[in-house]
Amino acid sequence: MELINGKELAKKIREELKLEVEELKKQEIKPKLAVIMVGDDKASEVYVRNKSKACNEIGIEFEEFLMDKNTKQEELINLINKLNQRKDIHGILLQSPIPNHLNIREAFNTINYTKDVDGFNPINVGKLSIGEDSFISCTPYGVIKMLEEYNIPLEGKRAVIIGRSNIVGKPLIQCLLNKNATVTICHSKTKNIEEITREADILIAALGKPKFVKEDMVKENAVVIDVGINRNEEGKIVGDVDFENVSKKASYITPVPGGVGPMTIAMLMNNVVKAAKNIELKNK
Ligand code: NAP
Repeated sequence: MELINGKELAKKIREELKLEVEELKKQEIKPKLAVIMVGDDKASEVYVRNKSKACNEIGIEFEEFLMDKNTKQEELINLINKLNQRKDIHGILLQSPIPNHLNIREAFNTINYTKDVDGFNPINVGKLSIGEDSFISCTPYGVIKMLEEYNIPLEGKRAVIIGRSNIVGKPLIQCLLNKNATVTICHSKTKNIEEITREADILIAALGKPKFVKEDMVKENAVVIDVGINRNEEGKIVGDVDFENVSKKASYITPVPGGVGPMTIAMLMNNVVKAAKNIELKNK
């Protein structure tokens, strides 16, 4: 079994991006990310801090917009429209969750697709589905990057995804299809899920249920990617895969923490640099 070290790989990507940003700055291109946070969700504060740190390390400029939890939809949309117009900002990210009274879909749809570094705007989702260059949602993008970097062949392979969310499971279908895998996606209404997962050459768990994937659900020598981030009873972070037992059977496996998680931020940084290049180089 070989461990897929997301932490190391993410570090390598961030170092490469740092060099790229230094080069861009010589051409007066200064990539900049704007992050909007509404309310005071504690977990979101940590995520935003981590994004800010990553930007800082790479040389990407970062501006945070904190909005009160009672913010009106119109105020949020107005801010996004202003950021869409600002020439110095290349990437816009709305940190979720936002308070329930707000319509997050409308907000995501308002972010101009050229600055949509999270890949949630329907234009980017559509472009991905027809195989055009687009911003890919950072977690699925991180998963595909890991598979690429470890030279794991996808063509003709049977890939099974557990979880059909808009941010992870669904974009993964397209990413894997684009690599010529045969893709099956499972969800909470899927019957006899273990019969399907046992057929997977590549099994991706993204459902948010601690240690859901057990040894008997996995084929011998399968590649197992664990997207899940859950807290167990002791407050420890665990994935969706029973790592201890599944790792005995897998050919490759990602750990939690240190697997997909660090890749997500690295791919966000990658998307900000890409947005800056797309916007600025087009204008030159
Ligand atoms: P989500 O929106 O809650 O979606 C969960 C999906 O899993 C749904 O499609 C659901 O099916 C399916 N599901 C739930 N229970 C199931 C079961 N018993 N059997 C089969 N399918 C089941 O979750 P998400 O946002 O995609 O996140 C999934 C996990 O990934 C979470 O642990 C989250 O923390 C983690 N995550 C990690 C990163 C990272 O950077 N590593 C990024 C994003 C998310 P239905 O559609 O039928 O309800």
